[in-house]
Amino acid sequence: MLSIKRKPYAISLVSLLILFYLSFSYSIAFANTKDPLGLRLSPSYASKQLFAYNQLNVPHSAADNTIKSSNAVLDEISVNNISAFYEKTHQKQDEMKITQSNESAKLIIVIDDIGYSKRDLAVIDLPVTIAILPQSPYAKERAILANEKGREIIIHQPMRAKGGRFVEDNTLFAEMSQGQIDEIIHDAIESIPFAVGMNNHTGSAMTSSLEGMQKVFHTLNDTSLFFLDSLTTGKSQVYTAAEQEMFAGKLFQRDVFLDNEQNEHYIEKQLDKAIHLARKKGYAIAIGHPYQTTINVLERRLNDLPDDIQIIKLSELSL
Ligand SMILES: [Zn+2]
Repeated sequence: MLSIKRKPYAISLVSLLILFYLSFSYSIAFANTKDPLGLRLSPSYASKQLFAYNQLNVPHSAADNTIKSSNAVLDEISVNNISAFYEKTHQKQDEMKITQSNESAKLIIVIDDIGYSKRDLAVIDLPVTIAILPQSPYAKERAILANEKGREIIIHQPMRAKGGRFVEDNTLFAEMSQGQIDEIIHDAIESIPFAVGMNNHTGSAMTSSLEGMQKVFHTLNDTSLFFLDSLTTGKSQVYTAAEQEMFAGKLFQRDVFLDNEQNEHYIEKQLDKAIHLARKKGYAIAIGHPYQTTINVLERRLNDLPDDIQIIKLSELSL
């Protein structure tokens, strides 16, 4: 009698557990398929994207930006607002991450446009990544000096801007053939010894061309360079292109521009913003330029950073 009574009880308990497990995993699956705007994406699309980005060591913020970029409404959002938007939507998640890891927050500062000015020398004395324009008169000289001082060096590859009037030699255009892009990138590698990565100089037109960026990653796959998207457009196709070309190197994305305005008060505020972001998500990548105002702020602030902030090289950043 007893065994007859127990059996249906056990069966219903097991089915309850199965039901609970199924609804739990379903809600987890859907939690991952919501984009930052709360729009539902198809589970297969989102999981495919996230899987691909994880494979590529791409931060989810980048994945989010790609998803956002594909949304027509969000095309109206300015580039700087993207970072602000990211901060807002990911705040809780990032705070949890940093509390759990209990590590110091990492700050990476990249100074672009090196190779033209005497001010480069003051920049090279700072603990920053040196991004050198390959066609600039002092490209090789600056690379050698920066390497002697233990700085990380990257190629600051000119890419076509929308409506840009000032075009550097060897600027990459989306319409170029694979052969032309190969040649320009290999020339840049020759011009800049010790380079371990690449970021884009301007490039709002080029980086928003999927086809153009696929050619770039096709070439980069034959090198050991990583790529930092300077994010000069809200419509960047960099991550999608890297995914489609199965780019083997690391991919990064700029968080903050330090000196869109050349006054020290503004630059201080932008640096504070980068520090704040680094505390929240574990790291932040800031890009500046060799302006005297930027150098003044960095000379003052980088020697006196809070204890929980650690300056590292881009190549040391694991996402
Ligand atoms: Zn530049």
